[in-house]
Amino acid sequence: SEIATMMDVSTTEIISACMSLGIMVTMNQRLDAETLSIVADEFGYEVEFVAADLEETIKIAADAEKDLKPRAPIVTVMGHVDHGKTSLLDYVREANVIAGESGGITQHIGAYGVTLKDGQKITFLDTPGHEAFTAMRARGAQVTDIAVIVIAADDDIMPQTKEAISHAQAANVPIVFAINKIDRSAANPDKIKEGLSQMNLLVEDWGGKIQSQDISAKTGEGVEELLEKVLLEAELLELKANPDKIANGTVVEAFLDKGRGYVSTILVQGGTLKIGDYVLAGTHSGKVKAMQDERGNSIPTAGPATPISILGLDGAPQAGDKFNVLEDERDAKQIATKRSQLRREQSVRTQRHITLDEIGRRIALGDFKELNIILKGDVDGSVEALTDSFQKLSTEEIQVNIIHKGVGAITESDVLLASASDAIIIGFNVRPMGNARDVAEKEEIDIRMYSIIYDAINDLKDAMEGMLSPEI
Ligand code: GDP
Repeated sequence: SEIATMMDVSTTEIISACMSLGIMVTMNQRLDAETLSIVADEFGYEVEFVAADLEETIKIAADAEKDLKPRAPIVTVMGHVDHGKTSLLDYVREANVIAGESGGITQHIGAYGVTLKDGQKITFLDTPGHEAFTAMRARGAQVTDIAVIVIAADDDIMPQTKEAISHAQAANVPIVFAINKIDRSAANPDKIKEGLSQMNLLVEDWGGKIQSQDISAKTGEGVEELLEKVLLEAELLELKANPDKIANGTVVEAFLDKGRGYVSTILVQGGTLKIGDYVLAGTHSGKVKAMQDERGNSIPTAGPATPISILGLDGAPQAGDKFNVLEDERDAKQIATKRSQLRREQSVRTQRHITLDEIGRRIALGDFKELNIILKGDVDGSVEALTDSFQKLSTEEIQVNIIHKGVGAITESDVLLASASDAIIIGFNVRPMGNARDVAEKEEIDIRMYSIIYDAINDLKDAMEGMLSPEI
């Protein structure tokens, strides 16, 4: 009815226009972006999406090739619980004497940079785990360049190891494996490498291309070599940024400090941030009053791939929020206010994820080329059988990708991955666990549960042919 009023036509006309597109709607239903565009077009209008665009209001001009300078890689450490992620991050943090820098890293600001002997730098995100990584991605922030996946050599390739691998792959982020705890007598790095090869992940010693390094996060053995391999991987990525412009980047974390006010750690991704700049970060804004690095040093400027904590924002933005420097303080304030209004209006959603019912229509519209699926099942056999069958449903128009599969209940991390990668979740004889259902509802992720293989395959096939009748 809102769009009817805007175009000055009757609601019935909108409803019948939708019907002719094969969509049954009621007066109070929200239409998605494509439907809105098509319906408006029928009546000779063009839709401009103001709300959806708001997050993008700050357009960053593309940089000229000549302005781009090499920048440090940004690394996230992932892996199964207790395999040594924190120990590795701590070791690297403390061993930063590698470069003979005076004063260790004293502050936990959510990210830190290290300089190696030859002067090369690496930036580590200090929140290990694929959940944090994918939660950021679900908010639209792609920060990580390289994922270091830690696997304990005295254990097996565990479910969360597999998850971490899927999450990195779904984000298209190259992996470097760190086979950890080799100081332990029970360590068997070869067994881990063999396990990886069975998952089609061939590390270099096994004739493949994926880098891997045996390490001990406890004694430090192999850690330097690991960092060198990370740099090698970074070289292939040719990471560059333009330092000579106003800054933009992503919020890593933020909190309220009783004495200092709101402290936000941000990662500069382009340009250089200076004290005195007007910053817009998510729904907050402010003038940068002070900047500190991870060593507690006050610094006047911060260039690409530098993590810093800043003072001066009027609130705590969320991890994964983008930040931009604006010329005008008032602009920054205005946009921040507008954004928080929008976020408050819960009904205004800027992101809606694919559902099984919608697939047929999206394919018909021609803008949908890949269907991402997360598949969880009770036993390996059915997961493999479904993977095969689903993949065989791929057609010339649409490719079916199983971006993650595993045995076990549907977890919150599955839902986050679905949100970050616009995927649907299919559960075979398993259900959502813990928070997963709530998060799925909030993120509008379609979870389908089946107990008969044939039904799952048929539903997907029907959906892809646009034949699925909507779920009542
Ligand atoms: P996370 O859960 O992946 O962050 O794992 P932690 O870093 O907390 O490590 C889990 C346990 O393994 C701790 O008790 C560590 O001391 C131990 N640990 C981690 N790395 C090593 C290692 O290289 N050698 C040995 N012997 N123990 C390690």
